[in-house]
Amino acid sequence: MRIRLPDKVHTIIETLQAAGYEAYAVGGCVRDSVLGRTPNDWDITTSAKPEETKRLFARTIDTGIMHGTVTVMLEREGFEVTTYRIDGEYEDCRHPKEVTFTASLEEDLKRRDFTINAMAYNEQDGLVDIFGGIRDMEAGVIRCVGDARERFTEDALRMLRAVRFSAQLGYRIEETTADAVKRLAPSLRRISVERIQAELVKLAVSPHPDYLRIAYETGITAEVLPEFDLCMETPQNNPHHCYSVGEHILHSMLAVEPDKALRLGMLFHDIGKPQTLTIDEDGITHNKMHPAVGAEMTKKILRRLKFDNDTIDKVTKIVLYHDQEIALNDAGVRRAVNRMGEDIFPMILAVRRADISAQSDYKREEKLERLDYIERMYEDIRSRHEAVSLKDLAVNGSDLIALGMQPGRQIGEILHELLEIVLEDPSKNRKDELTDICRRRIKGRRISDAET
Ligand code: ATP
Ligand code: MG
Repeated sequence: MRIRLPDKVHTIIETLQAAGYEAYAVGGCVRDSVLGRTPNDWDITTSAKPEETKRLFARTIDTGIMHGTVTVMLEREGFEVTTYRIDGEYEDCRHPKEVTFTASLEEDLKRRDFTINAMAYNEQDGLVDIFGGIRDMEAGVIRCVGDARERFTEDALRMLRAVRFSAQLGYRIEETTADAVKRLAPSLRRISVERIQAELVKLAVSPHPDYLRIAYETGITAEVLPEFDLCMETPQNNPHHCYSVGEHILHSMLAVEPDKALRLGMLFHDIGKPQTLTIDEDGITHNKMHPAVGAEMTKKILRRLKFDNDTIDKVTKIVLYHDQEIALNDAGVRRAVNRMGEDIFPMILAVRRADISAQSDYKREEKLERLDYIERMYEDIRSRHEAVSLKDLAVNGSDLIALGMQPGRQIGEILHELLEIVLEDPSKNRKDELTDICRRRIKGRRISDAET
């Protein structure tokens, strides 16, 4: 097997070898190369100690010197070069508590999580595959290196990584590995939320986001996202639906493009349904107010998982607006764009499409036609450059002050009133028209002021 190493990786490996050390590309980059995918990054493993690596290259950064990692900078690109090591027990952060350097590549490969991630490559020796990574790739299997229970006990995050890799690659998790997850999933409680968040996002934007089901079946979501377990256990008896809340969520994730906010939006869009469930006298399930309840829950959950504010804001809005009525006319669509936000509105259209495609086919054509109609109106509004927010108004605060208004809260109020007028009738969005309206308002106010 031959892998084409990028020139810089080739240079680093050759430099280390010329100094008498062993060096290989290792882990994810070897896995991805074998699969014909473009690796995210190229990691290098070497028998050289960090100090020795540092002596060989002009510019290095001590990224994780305690754990044997030095980043070698070539031009503006950085490559992590890590000394062969044996890991002690992992703690909550990204790194094991203590590491021991070793002279053996095999020892270094043994500490890695899965067989497909435990292969090394250089041009001299070709592929080093001691644990059957290639065999497992051919079979489409995620399997621990060594004893699964031991490996998950050392680092519980590996359980979530197993599901993440299975979702990225469309692989199944080998039985003893899966059994070990079922047994040890509760120990995920000890893992830092930052590491869990990163894996959840990779799972969500993968080609198989519905493999979150495996995380449910093995007890992982019970630890990291128990709200989702409730959804899996909440049936829907309603003509619009053919799945439980959880299965509907999984199908809807699959139906939206692999964008972080959109996939998380789908994951959380119905998270408020179990809490709002009612069953009427005919046995039909309803979930009134689930978007508002779900949006509050989403905000709490995403905060708990330490997501950044931008993601929390976007995803919460998607949940809140996913089902909100949009009046079927131009003004209604302009109002909705204004209310939801220009960045959110197009996402809501995508979310609704995915939502519908994960429902029963009851009235599906009607729902999709309605959505198409809204989308066409939205595109026309955009191509006509019609105002949908304050910044699009033909007048601004300074214009109102120039008309003699006092700076202050009132200016904001009037601008909002003008926006209402313009959302209803875009032809009024002209400076002369709007200043006329303002002049009349100011006069009116003065008269009423005099009366009081
Ligand atoms: P990607 O970067 O595409 O997400 P990757 O396989 O490169 O996937 P990284 O998290 O970048 O994953 O880790 C690089 C390599 O380090 C892995 O391929 C694996 O060999 C090893 N590794 C990473 N995390 C762990 C862990 N928690 N336990 C054991 N080995 C690990
Ligand atoms: Mg990587």
